[in-house]
Amino acid sequence: MNKPLTRLSPPAEPREFGFFLDGRAVPAGERSLIERRSPAHDVPVTRIPHCTQDDLDAAVAAARRAFDDRRWSGLSGAARAGVLLKAGALIRERAEEIAYFETLENGKPIAQARGEVAGCADMFEYASGLARSLHGDSFNNLGDGMFGIVTREPVGVVGLITPWNFPFLILCERVPYILASGCTIVAKPSEVTSASTLLLAGILTEAGLPDGCMNVVTGPGSSIGQGMIEHMDIDMLSFTGSTGVGRRCVEAAARSNFKKLGLELGGKNPQIVFADADLEDAADGVAFGIAFNTGQCCVSGSRLIVERSVADRFAAMVQAKLERVRIGDPLDESTQVGAITTEAQNATILGYLRKGQEEGARLLCGGTVADLGAGRFIGPAIFTDVTRDMSIVRDEIFGPVLTILPFDTLDEAVEIANDTIYGLAASVWSQDIDKALTVTRRVRAGRFWVNTTLAGGPELPLGGFKQSGWGREAGMYGVEEYTQVKSVHVEIGKRRHWGA
Ligand code: NAD
Repeated sequence: MNKPLTRLSPPAEPREFGFFLDGRAVPAGERSLIERRSPAHDVPVTRIPHCTQDDLDAAVAAARRAFDDRRWSGLSGAARAGVLLKAGALIRERAEEIAYFETLENGKPIAQARGEVAGCADMFEYASGLARSLHGDSFNNLGDGMFGIVTREPVGVVGLITPWNFPFLILCERVPYILASGCTIVAKPSEVTSASTLLLAGILTEAGLPDGCMNVVTGPGSSIGQGMIEHMDIDMLSFTGSTGVGRRCVEAAARSNFKKLGLELGGKNPQIVFADADLEDAADGVAFGIAFNTGQCCVSGSRLIVERSVADRFAAMVQAKLERVRIGDPLDESTQVGAITTEAQNATILGYLRKGQEEGARLLCGGTVADLGAGRFIGPAIFTDVTRDMSIVRDEIFGPVLTILPFDTLDEAVEIANDTIYGLAASVWSQDIDKALTVTRRVRAGRFWVNTTLAGGPELPLGGFKQSGWGREAGMYGVEEYTQVKSVHVEIGKRRHWGA
């Protein structure tokens, strides 16, 4: 199914998925169903089972068995690499089907979804190499009688909770790296975007992943998600989502089994533009950085901090670009910005658009609800005349809303950029390499872009400073995150007795 579907319209009937346990899809049976309506077309597109605590326990038990009997971690790195490579190839083969459901459930443009799925195949291919190169350390300097070895071992059963904004991409920034380490998985996708996770589970089985190594439970965060964060038999939890739920993960880990945590949380990311930047490039990047994925993007560059001498001109340049963005049916190949994914998120964005104006900011453009039929669409908005204490400047809106603050000196730009509880990502635009690198060093963020934004790939790690999270995903750092280190002291020759 790798050629574009001939009929890019919502399906006549919603597709029903089972959850995934011990290598096979389990139909909903007696369980109630959660129906997903396309946010762009307002028609039902998928149905998933509302899993129970028993289902979760069965999934964790399957992952536990698969981990403890070493059917996966006991394989050579080369054998694990073979499965990951095959999975990458199968993702490429099924790309069109995955992208189609991603678009239907999330509302993102189909062209964007295709790009993300291709990137996901690349993640698997890259991580396959890491399965072979993961290694520890040795100490040959402990004297003739002693040798020290440090091994890296998989943490065990990993619970994986993912959000709705990049359902497949965020999943694939984690799954291949977790599997490369030798861990087994129980995944819980967002209840509104579960299809691509369930498709991946089937692909992994087909690629030769042993049963029980990838299980998927479906259902709401408040029941199934909460059950996972409190579970006594999950060794590590990788959570991607809001800072509020991230806090619950920490509390639940403390109350339960002190499971290891990886947390990828919110962001309110600065884009610093100096007057000496290539302003055309910067305006293009800033417009892309706020409109991409309708701003429902944890690394979206939502706080524009621009040198005062060019601030008005630059705002007009970004405005001109945002007003040309093609918003519309995400199944249309030419659409650049699709629908807002959930009703709740739509209400949140509209609430901030109102609040910004009530607080005295000036809405330069956008923020209007585009009349495009059944779905939820919001034109990308720019606020000027903002102050640093306004909620639109401080809070993560998670929508296409850009605020602009001017600065006079590099120190001031850095100070404004760091004036946030978050530290996920940042961009700097300048043709002066000294300035750009100084800013890169001084702004506290886990990801930085210099004269670009939102670039990514399987090699470089992802993760946040401050309240944006703990730990790193992707790259070799990402694999190591799912391991723990064991020290082995080896006596060489006859042991020196202690004299008792
Ligand atoms: P969310 O926190 O509401 O939900 C994320 C996931 O957690 C979903 O699967 C949800 O079902 C589950 N969940 C909800 N309540 C839970 C609970 N009590 N216990 C356990 N699980 C629970 O976030 P969202 O609205 O889906 O996504 C938006 C947020 O995610 C934003 O804050 C965004 O910045 C953040 N995000 C961060 C990254 C990153 O890499 N840092 C990436 C994407 C999204």
